[in-house]
Amino acid sequence: MSPGRPVIPGADKVRRTLTDQGGESPSPVRGSEAEASSSGREVAAYGATSAQSGLVPLTIRRRALKPDDVEIDIDFCGLCHSDVHATRGEWGERPWPLVPGHEIVGRVRRVGDDVRSFSVGERVGVGCMVDSCGECENCLDGVEQFCDRGNVLTYGSVDPRNGGEITQGGYAQRIVVTEKFVLHVPEALDPAAAAPLLCAGITTYSPLRYFGVEPGERVGVVGLGGLGHMAVKLAKAMGAEVTVFTRSARKADAARELGADGVVVTSEAGALEGAQRTLDLVIDTVAAPHDVNPYLQTLRLDGALFQLSLPSGTMAPVDPGLLIRRRLSYGGSLIGGIAETQEMLDFCAEHGVTAEVELVSADELNTAYDRMVEGDVKYRFVLDATTLASTGTGSAQAEEGEE
Ligand SMILES: [Zn+2]
Ligand SMILES: [Zn+2]
Repeated sequence: MSPGRPVIPGADKVRRTLTDQGGESPSPVRGSEAEASSSGREVAAYGATSAQSGLVPLTIRRRALKPDDVEIDIDFCGLCHSDVHATRGEWGERPWPLVPGHEIVGRVRRVGDDVRSFSVGERVGVGCMVDSCGECENCLDGVEQFCDRGNVLTYGSVDPRNGGEITQGGYAQRIVVTEKFVLHVPEALDPAAAAPLLCAGITTYSPLRYFGVEPGERVGVVGLGGLGHMAVKLAKAMGAEVTVFTRSARKADAARELGADGVVVTSEAGALEGAQRTLDLVIDTVAAPHDVNPYLQTLRLDGALFQLSLPSGTMAPVDPGLLIRRRLSYGGSLIGGIAETQEMLDFCAEHGVTAEVELVSADELNTAYDRMVEGDVKYRFVLDATTLASTGTGSAQAEEGEE
């Protein structure tokens, strides 16, 4: 997913607009909850206090429930590479402390008075965004990930509708999110294995849908990590014939186990040349700087290559001659809008698609990060959020007992 951004361009403008609409007026809360909710609640979490701290137990405050808010008891949260970059300061200075996590699955604990789409106990999810302006052209088109005024990311973002506080993510016991940015997670999906759908799943589903993949079309997937393995599963579920490109011969069998029809081991001499003009679409998930021209050469007329990860360094320039001679498109894609994310979850339930996951407890998070950096995960770690309870502070525990 994209790098989080600590400051939203135009945030002041958004805040003024929202205030004009009364968006920041005091919120009524339901009877017995009023006292506990007047200033929000403390919950146990894991996060970084500096770029060097690693992940440590923290207590964070979730805001008081507003009429359009949903409070969620978090069961699982996937570990995304973005989380590692953000908490280790690799994307620049952050507001500390920072609780990462944007692949959240849980159950509704409480709803605000105006919430109509969700009920207590329902299985729900939260992905990479928790709000957007709701007024710009892109928000009105349902592509909130491209909000002109900058959307509010699930962690590390300024939240203009909530007093400019910095959002904190899903490595926590609970989260409060406005109804519009909460997803219905079908009960048919295993909740732990569904968590990575909220980032890795939608990030790969969206370009497949945008391209309009149809049964029988040929899709290439470059890289077989968290994103790549979801791309293979989703493209197969759409009926495509899938070829995986990987540098590692060791991953060939794993790719076939995921459903890949073909595997090209790119470290073998001449391997890519043999795949020329064979594909309709290439989904490139590699985050390290690399040359995309050999992958453009695998495309047929009117093919497209979508790049999903943001490389940390410069890359070899794209050869325009390749694009021109086969009318190719070279594009990028960023997660998906809320409506499309819901469509993806429903699609996954219908087709039995989830991520391959390895559950970790809170005290294993730092080890899991090290293993992610080494590529030692098949294919996504997921935090069992119930293990956070034992790390909570006294106040968080006490609140637990109040209800
Ligand atoms: Zn992510
Ligand atoms: Zn917008």
